[in-house]
Amino acid sequence: MGSLTLGADDSMESDRRDALTGLVDAVQAKAKIARWLSDWPADAGACPLHAMLVAVGRIETVNLAYGADTGDSALAEIAQRISHFAADEFESVPWFAARVAGSTFLLVARESCSRERWQWFAEALADVVSMPIVSPEVGGGTVRLWPRIALMRTAEGDDPDRILDQLAMALQSARQEHGRRVAWVTGKLAHVSVSNQQLEADMLAAIDRDEIEIVFQPQFEMADDTLIGAEALARWQHPQIGRLGANTLFTLAERTDHVAQLSRHIAERALALAAGWPKKVKLSLNVTPADLAAATFPIEFLSLLRRSGFPPDRLTIEITEQVLLADLEEVTRALNPLKAAGVSIALDDFGAGYSNFRYLKILPLDILKLDRSMVEGISEDSRDLAVLRAITAMARALNLRVVAEGVEHEEQREALAAEGVEYYQGFLRSVPLDHPAFQALLETD
Ligand code: C2E
Ligand code: CA
Ligand code: CA
Repeated sequence: MGSLTLGADDSMESDRRDALTGLVDAVQAKAKIARWLSDWPADAGACPLHAMLVAVGRIETVNLAYGADTGDSALAEIAQRISHFAADEFESVPWFAARVAGSTFLLVARESCSRERWQWFAEALADVVSMPIVSPEVGGGTVRLWPRIALMRTAEGDDPDRILDQLAMALQSARQEHGRRVAWVTGKLAHVSVSNQQLEADMLAAIDRDEIEIVFQPQFEMADDTLIGAEALARWQHPQIGRLGANTLFTLAERTDHVAQLSRHIAERALALAAGWPKKVKLSLNVTPADLAAATFPIEFLSLLRRSGFPPDRLTIEITEQVLLADLEEVTRALNPLKAAGVSIALDDFGAGYSNFRYLKILPLDILKLDRSMVEGISEDSRDLAVLRAITAMARALNLRVVAEGVEHEEQREALAAEGVEYYQGFLRSVPLDHPAFQALLETD
């Protein structure tokens, strides 16, 4: 499950997991917090824990309207979104996600980040959680669940019960205040930059001042570990708040309607940097559903690509399954001109959520990127391996190349290689690198 990744805390407690979501349960969550608190050196000040309680409303309504199966798969999907988001955002910080009650989730990170960062993270997570959930039970229709989130930073003397009680109380008071989505345990919202106006100004300034950093995660050939390309990933180094991950950055950009500007900026920068790479090295760029939805996207993107001088046949764009909620024909219309120009199209995060195989036939795809939640269990779990086998067989039948991502352990790499997966990326070989470090890697390759 997505909660066990490099940064995630995976030490030894007996493995009590919630059957529905694969997350740990309330008892385990308290045990983990207790251990973090007691392991923290006494002379190092208070243990820097940040916690949030995420409660989704309306689940009973969904159960009543569509049946308990729909409610259950919606909760499983939300658990997956929370884990995925946290795994991306925390990188090497220890964290875990738990389901502590029916539709209430707990997320804890051992990190001394600013209150603002924690709050922005919560706001972005709330956006992700409330995106429509495709539900097989409602005939491929969607359900939506809106979360409320309580936040806290632990203080000296906190214990697990007290932490959960305080969060529950804050959630309760948020419920009583109409329209309040995120509340702090202290009752006060962090005041810096929470307004959309401030955020918007910050974001535009960040683009102008080049505070948006682009890192490159190398991709390798499975057979012989040849470096074949890199995926560009954005980071925001905010002067006051600190480093914000790409997910937070993009959900906040979406909220302030600046996705197009941000995407253009990243594409221009990444293409300019990649122009100097050796000819055999490819570049992958992520494209959001909001980008694709703009009618002018293909024309603008192609003219930007032309201006950059980067060869289209060395470029891949990655789209996520989230675009599939939109009109498939429209998405195909947006992608076809890019494909005709020689750009490869990859379907990202495949297997992370509700994956409808029909999409693979309809969309003009070249590459399937296996989500890291698919990769995680393959060396231990025979069912995970069976799913992988089915997917690679289907990819082969459809003439799609397969890239595995989130490969962290040698055993995973071996299992993927045995199934004929051709390419991979992941912490096993390299974390995302800043451009000078990536160039250094190119030189040694
Ligand atoms: P993604 O496209 O699935 O990117 C892979 C994410 O997994 C990256 O997080 C990367 O740092 C992380 N990752 C790579 N290898 C490993 C591994 O072995 N283990 C684990 N646990 N994680 C690994 P990042 O950079 O935070 O990006 C998160 C998401 O934000 C991306 O998911 C992508 O959807 C989006 N994103 C990032 N940069 C951009 C961008 O420039 N434009 C757009 N539109 N979206 C972006
Ligand atoms: Ca991607
Ligand atoms: Ca991905």
